[in-house]
Amino acid sequence: MSAPRPLPAGVGDADFGRALAGFGDAVGAGHVLWDIAQLLPYGRIMLPLPDEDHQPSAVVMPASVEEIQKVLAVARRWHVPLWTVSTGRNFGYGSAAPATAGQVVLDLRRMNRILDVDAELGTALIEPGVTYQQLQAHLRERNIPLWLDFPAPGPLVSPLGNTLERGGGLTPYGDHFQHACGMEVVLADGSVLRTGLGGIADTTSWQAHRYGYGPYVDGLFTQSNFGIVSKMGIWLMPAPPAYRTIMAQWWQDEDLGRAVDAIRPLRLAETISNFGTLANATLMLTSMAKREEVYDGLGAIPIARANEFAKARGLPPWVYLFSLYGTPEQIEVDTRLVKRALEPHGATLVLDVDDPLQRNELSLQAFTLLNWNGGGGLCWFSPVAPNRGTDVVRQTELARRIMDAHGVDFMTGMTINGRDILNVMPLVFNRSDAVETALVRACFEELLTEFAAHGYGFYRTGIGFMDRVAELHGRAGHEFALRLKRALDPLGILAPGKSGIRI
Ligand SMILES: Cc1cc2nc3c(=O)[nH]c(=O)nc-3n(C[C@H](O)[C@H](O)[C@H](O)COP(=O)(O)OP(=O)(O)OC[C@H]3O[C@@H](n4cnc5c(N)ncnc54)[C@H](O)[C@@H]3O)c2cc1C
Repeated sequence: MSAPRPLPAGVGDADFGRALAGFGDAVGAGHVLWDIAQLLPYGRIMLPLPDEDHQPSAVVMPASVEEIQKVLAVARRWHVPLWTVSTGRNFGYGSAAPATAGQVVLDLRRMNRILDVDAELGTALIEPGVTYQQLQAHLRERNIPLWLDFPAPGPLVSPLGNTLERGGGLTPYGDHFQHACGMEVVLADGSVLRTGLGGIADTTSWQAHRYGYGPYVDGLFTQSNFGIVSKMGIWLMPAPPAYRTIMAQWWQDEDLGRAVDAIRPLRLAETISNFGTLANATLMLTSMAKREEVYDGLGAIPIARANEFAKARGLPPWVYLFSLYGTPEQIEVDTRLVKRALEPHGATLVLDVDDPLQRNELSLQAFTLLNWNGGGGLCWFSPVAPNRGTDVVRQTELARRIMDAHGVDFMTGMTINGRDILNVMPLVFNRSDAVETALVRACFEELLTEFAAHGYGFYRTGIGFMDRVAELHGRAGHEFALRLKRALDPLGILAPGKSGIRI
């Protein structure tokens, strides 16, 4: 058996051995992984960063809150940092790997109980290791007419892990944190906090009411390292009587601004209540072609070439895919409103399109993205724009210019909310090509700097870029996070570097 490498920063071999023995006592030796071969899947990242900067030193897999508390006691005793994951499939943002080398991954996949589903209220209480697929099977076996809102990698991933990253899906419940209700959090000192109404003895309303009494703190445990979330409530959507998925198409590349301005009133009025996506042709092509079929020249795919290839296959430069939900009568009325709002602004509408994720069906269709050039590299660039055509056009021009200069294909899938847009751009690349990987990294860093210089922030980022993104969001916010960190985790054992926060 090879020696565990690397070690946690500042921890010697002998002390680390003692910590591993302590973890074994806490969770059972079989649930502590430290052999290099066992650690491999936990250090596998898709980002344009060196593998060695994100290799864990070990993995510990507790099965209960009590075991988490015992693991924390060992971590505090030997100053071993713990990087918590629920299912660890944060693909394109770091997967299960820690922000810095040598942290011990605290893998919560063994905590996978569905603790409660209230079919009347449409709520569930789950543990971190529960996957969307597991929860969907649970509902279907019991004929409970509630829908889940899946992110694209739905079958594989955890509602809890996804929500803590403030991830999203496509139905009206697509903002996952907005539909989270009540958490149980194990703090670094081992104490257990229940947020919202979870602190009331024999609580009746923990999953029904989000805020509780006094400060509302749930947000502090998202994209942070202030605690280990061991349970979370989520709201589930009553199955609608009917739905209709619609594809609105704009046939000129220059139509982007007016498309956004035409969609906004429909989102603000909630005529369109779901989190539809406005995508460009290149992103859509990843589901039907390989890159080499589209373009075999040098550098990034020219937009004109991508658009021409797409048009020959019946796809326009811009597609907005969304759904209407309700009774058949409501859907007919809403369809008329949508037509009236979009058609005068250049859209052609295709009604009754099939998209599994918008109708409570799991699908891994989005993973075709990774076949684009088969290189295994993926890094999400996720800036936020106000929901205005001028801003989205400005972001698009900025991103295209920077990506072109680095030979990176421009793709985007924008989540259109009422007032803002998450302009999620995947940088897809060949990770086994060192030159290409270095270019993508430089491209990503320039994108961050330039977007911030134009007044845009970011909805989420991957390990390796967290310090930089925190810095770009301003000193006061970061200082505030550090003060909380010092109070809650003075030894800094929880996920140092998450969102740039470390003692
Ligand atoms: C093709 C493709 C499409 C994708 N589409 C989407 C999409 O539609 N929507 C979307 O949101 N994402 C998407 N992703 C990104 C990602 O795969 C998902 O967000 C996924 O849900 C995150 O992985 P996870 O659920 O296993 O979370 P984890 O990896 O378990 O957790 C994510 C992070 O949250 C924190 N964390 C997790 N659990 C805990 C805990 N119990 N306590 C404290 N902190 C914790 C940690 O910092 C961890 O790194 C996509 C990825 C790919 C490759």
